[in-house]
Amino acid sequence: MLEGNLLQILRESKYTTVLSGFGMLLESGYPAIRDGEVSYDIEQKYGYSMEEMFSSAFYSTRKEKFYNFYRNELLSQLEKPPGKGFTGMAELERRGLIQCIITRRIFGLPRRAGCKNVIDLHGNVYDNFCPHCGRTYPMEYIRDSVRVPLCEHCKTPVRPRVCLFGEMVDNRVITRAAEEIQRAEVLLVLGTNLKSYLCSQLTDYYGGQKLILVNETPHYSDRFADIVIHQRVDDLMERIQKELGDKI
Ligand SMILES: [Zn+2]
Repeated sequence: MLEGNLLQILRESKYTTVLSGFGMLLESGYPAIRDGEVSYDIEQKYGYSMEEMFSSAFYSTRKEKFYNFYRNELLSQLEKPPGKGFTGMAELERRGLIQCIITRRIFGLPRRAGCKNVIDLHGNVYDNFCPHCGRTYPMEYIRDSVRVPLCEHCKTPVRPRVCLFGEMVDNRVITRAAEEIQRAEVLLVLGTNLKSYLCSQLTDYYGGQKLILVNETPHYSDRFADIVIHQRVDDLMERIQKELGDKI
């Protein structure tokens, strides 16, 4: 399928919602910390697995270790800017060709790329708060903290408003995401397969006939999409940008 055809579909669609998957993060150079070698290295380094450390139970009982891991392995990644897939989404949104972006990823890359209507299902690392007095703190406050970041006002540990393992996703956020998918004429799934957590949780809300999947790696669930494009998202976005540029 040519990017021109995809553009045509986006132009004809009155409302297009995007599910932005993990593959887009990898394309931007972020590591797959739950996979193979990286995950093994993390366990060797900290004595716990990533799943253990990024859990609600671990956060409650070992805050200093949690923040050590969180700053060194997660916040340090933010130096990497959003890749072409994200800047491409922002451009499509600016031109009115997509209307909403939904992601489970907590690094805030769509917004950093300039996307406006973003639903962060699991929250993002830029949003931090004091559970006692409600004061909010920027990411830098956590990044530059030593040991456990404390609220300036009441000395309670400040925490990121992200969903740790063992915590429920905020129901209001899920409802908003479900509504954005229900109203979509086109559902554009980028950088993930249809059996991923992101999709299995949300694609059921889609009632249309134009579920378009863009993912580099073929997967048995691809047959559930109406249109499949086996490509890197950043490659596709780059070509779409070129196509758009040519037509200005
Ligand atoms: Zn406080």
